[in-house]
Amino acid sequence: MVTWVEPQVFKIAETRINRDDLVGFLRFLGADAWMEKQPWYRASSPDDVEDSSTVIEIAGRSCYKSFGVGLNPNITKIREDSKAYIENVLSKGDGSIFEQASTCWAFVDCSRVFTHELVRHRAGVAISQESLRYVRPRELRMTMVPGSELSRLSNLDEVTRSLEGAEEEYLHLVEGTIRPEMKFDEKKAWTSALRRFLPDGMATNIVWTANHRTLRWVLEMRTAPGAEAEMRYIFNKVGEILLRDYPLIYGDFVVKPHEDGVGGQWVPKIRSKV
Ligand SMILES: Cc1cc2nc3c(=O)[nH]c(=O)nc-3n(C[C@H](O)[C@H](O)[C@H](O)COP(=O)(O)OP(=O)(O)OC[C@H]3O[C@@H](n4cnc5c(N)ncnc54)[C@H](O)[C@@H]3O)c2cc1C
Repeated sequence: MVTWVEPQVFKIAETRINRDDLVGFLRFLGADAWMEKQPWYRASSPDDVEDSSTVIEIAGRSCYKSFGVGLNPNITKIREDSKAYIENVLSKGDGSIFEQASTCWAFVDCSRVFTHELVRHRAGVAISQESLRYVRPRELRMTMVPGSELSRLSNLDEVTRSLEGAEEEYLHLVEGTIRPEMKFDEKKAWTSALRRFLPDGMATNIVWTANHRTLRWVLEMRTAPGAEAEMRYIFNKVGEILLRDYPLIYGDFVVKPHEDGVGGQWVPKIRSKV
């Protein structure tokens, strides 16, 4: 039976600070006075700290020793406030410090159309994709993006029936070719050969890590009006999580809803591609 499934987004990991060593580093730099005023240093619980922007800010300030006047004799004033500091580095285009913190995502029940486009972004990412060479599907699960062209098809039943025919054909081929007594490598080779008949729109999973420099760029590109509906749908969800969890890094994005209702266009106000 063919099942239609919606893509889902999970942020499964992210950069965390190692407080004791961070304190040691800042004391080594002589930045004690600056450090003792910081919200992350004064916070009663690590849960109250937004670690990624903390790491990014400290990495950036360490370049010029801009933790206060006097540490670097060339500096006569500093931006005390974290928000002002991050906005300034974004506007100058000092993007490399945004590579210091990363997020790790699981995109599940997304299509191979989506994963194929996602992996075109090469800079600042790590990718682990479910293998259809190793994993043999038992049924056809197809990705359906709410609000997309496909979801609005009046003859979706017809499409589903046609896919059920393809699924039946695939399972028949598998049954006639892959025997339980075969060695694993042989099963793998045939699984790979027969996946050539499976559709691009079938649901799959991918784990994707990206740093915040990459994320700002991919969020902008993949929610643009020309982007594919599934890209827009998933990256709109990514954008909502990024804005919720890292307001200092993504607070300049403005969201304009798309006419078809599939997510919104995320436009950075300070600077595109830092
Ligand atoms: C709406 C839309 C439609 C598209 N249509 C097509 C299409 O029809 N056909 C097609 O083939 N692709 C298409 N693409 C994919 C597109 O061409 C890019 O491959 C993809 O968006 C990756 O972006 P990027 O090149 O910025 O790379 P990323 O890996 O995201 O890199 C970010 C930036 O780092 C720099 N960079 C990365 N790698 C290098 C490098 N090797 N050398 C120098 N600088 C580098 C560049 O400044 C780059 O912009 C489309 C993308 C979008 C958003």
